[in-house]
Amino acid sequence: MSCNKCKHLLDIQDLSSPYVIRECSDCNRKINLREAGDNGHGIKMEKGDQFIFPKNFIKMSANPLKSTVRLSKGGLEWFAKLIFVNDLPTKRESIQEEIKKNGNYSAYFQMTPQLEKEFWQFTTK
Ligand SMILES: [Zn+2]
Repeated sequence: MSCNKCKHLLDIQDLSSPYVIRECSDCNRKINLREAGDNGHGIKMEKGDQFIFPKNFIKMSANPLKSTVRLSKGGLEWFAKLIFVNDLPTKRESIQEEIKKNGNYSAYFQMTPQLEKEFWQFTTK
């Protein structure tokens, strides 16, 4: 059901990329929209719009073929820390095993007692 105010707005069918849900202020109809933003860039949003990222739209992977985003240098650093370092403080007992696993992704290095001490100081800050 639509009213005179929103009858010109048609629900989009393809919900596989981001869109907004706009509620008509007169009849409360919820409309799925993807209108071009200013100068054709991005998606137009109005006050009260709900912005939707479809499930699985954003996939991050170190492998560009499995990723839907392109990471900047800073983003790549953040991502590497997130997947390789963030949960390591909880794996103190199995650190040697974790290093062996991560060795598949990085150049080989040996964890010396001094390096391990510095590592824990760095990751538990
Ligand atoms: Zn309406």
